[in-house]
Amino acid sequence: MCRLSAEFTDKTVEAHFSHHILPRTKAQLRTALLFCAAFYLVFWVTDVLALGLGTVAWLLFACRLAVGVVAVASCVTNHLHPHSVGRVYLTASLTEIVGLLAFAPVVLARPAELPWHAMAMSIMVLVVYLYIPNRLIYSMAIAIVSTIVFIVVAVLLNRLAAEEVLSMIMLLALANGFGCIAARRYHMIRREEFRVQSVLKNLSERDPLTGCHNRRYLQQELLNMELSRARRFRLSLAVVACDIDHFKAVNDTYGHAAGDQVLVAFASLLRGMMRENVDSLIRFGGEEFLIVLPETDLAGATHLAERMRAALAVATTQIATGHPVAVTASFGVTSVNFAHVTARFPQEALIELADQLLYAAKNAGRNAVKALEFQGRPPLQLARKAGTHG
Ligand code: GH3
Ligand code: MG
Ligand code: MG
Repeated sequence: MCRLSAEFTDKTVEAHFSHHILPRTKAQLRTALLFCAAFYLVFWVTDVLALGLGTVAWLLFACRLAVGVVAVASCVTNHLHPHSVGRVYLTASLTEIVGLLAFAPVVLARPAELPWHAMAMSIMVLVVYLYIPNRLIYSMAIAIVSTIVFIVVAVLLNRLAAEEVLSMIMLLALANGFGCIAARRYHMIRREEFRVQSVLKNLSERDPLTGCHNRRYLQQELLNMELSRARRFRLSLAVVACDIDHFKAVNDTYGHAAGDQVLVAFASLLRGMMRENVDSLIRFGGEEFLIVLPETDLAGATHLAERMRAALAVATTQIATGHPVAVTASFGVTSVNFAHVTARFPQEALIELADQLLYAAKNAGRNAVKALEFQGRPPLQLARKAGTHG
């Protein structure tokens, strides 16, 4: 994390974080802007009491109203563009700048109340740092520049004694200092929270031995997400179940640690043949894996499974003792084409069919691929219908 900007140094992580908190940021911004705009307008009463209901008071009303208009426009534009992070920060900054600019005519029209204005300015600076959600660097730039401008204007008005000017500067420096430190802490804590959450999420979704996704991730997130995407765009989705043949013998012959090495090598061989960031490899349990292939029909998935089977059949894993260990695997392939299948079915039905096909491949002698199109419900007499390869 960058200590100065209180943001992640990795731009992709920062973008991910910003999108993750966007709904909350937008809701906070909406409340903050409307609340601030309402207060700006309510404080017009003090203009009227100080200046009477004349032209100047109405001009100040126009300035205050401008802040309200910008605040409402910001809320509307953020509502119309729900996914834009940049727009949220832009509208926050714009409203802050307009709000602070609109304060200048109030100060110039009511110079006798400078100490009160300095106090109001301190509160506004704190609002910019802490209440209106924005990037820390933007809040800092806006608060510091407006503070300097305020001090210059106050000095030029020449209404304060030297000790009063000093008190005012110290008060504003304090507001900026505390505001900045508190905002920085807040930004860092939120990011730390997000980082810990991501680590925990990753741990809960992955298998520690092979680094593959686990069954919980498959059943709670991945499969539902891929099925609804495929259904929406009327695409094919393929699922391949694969299981190492006679794996128990590997453990019994070479030991459990060697078995682990074979599992890791098997997962990495499969992963190496899949499309990065498109296909997913899941450790379904023990030495059984599941491959989810979006936008893949039965022929494509069967071809891939056949290539995987053949690659594994000629590969060996060098275990710690130096022995080369060779294993084979059996594959069950299924694919659902949403251009034809419109009926709803539970996600388990697809996994079940891939699993049945895998066991059909085992029954057919192992080191084999069995494939069958999913028609919306599992077929009754699977073994007779499925075609065997390998
Ligand atoms: P089949 O061809 O019918 O699949 O026979 P198999 O021996 O591979 O299947 P079986 O279900 O009889 O045995 C699976 C073995 O996998 C037993 C279990 O100890 C082993 N196993 C499961 N998880 C792990 C693991 O994480 N590491 C190791 N080394 N072995 C594991
Ligand atoms: Mg096995
Ligand atoms: Mg098994």
